[in-house]
Amino acid sequence: MLIPCLACEARFVPDDYFAACSDYNRGLDLVSWTCPHCGNRDDLRVLPGELGFGYSRGGRFDVQDRVRVPGLRRQRGELRLDISLDAASWRVRTRVRQPA
Ligand SMILES: [Zn+2]
Repeated sequence: MLIPCLACEARFVPDDYFAACSDYNRGLDLVSWTCPHCGNRDDLRVLPGELGFGYSRGGRFDVQDRVRVPGLRRQRGELRLDISLDAASWRVRTRVRQPA
């Protein structure tokens, strides 16, 4: 299956798509995604069987659009999110902010 970029509509195999995830935000349960094709940056929530896109406001994230990814699974860790699909898996780490 191919997963589309919502900005430019390029489509990616899961390995390329999830390798472009970074910076897991555990508080809002979001990962950042930077499109390898157009460079658009988006925040998304990995959910069982789908990806959720939407908007952060007031310290919460409202999912507005969903992209179905059958078989998608996720496991939250202390400083990471583990994503798996079929036999493949990807780890998205939390960026540790250095104290100012
Ligand atoms: Zn794109």
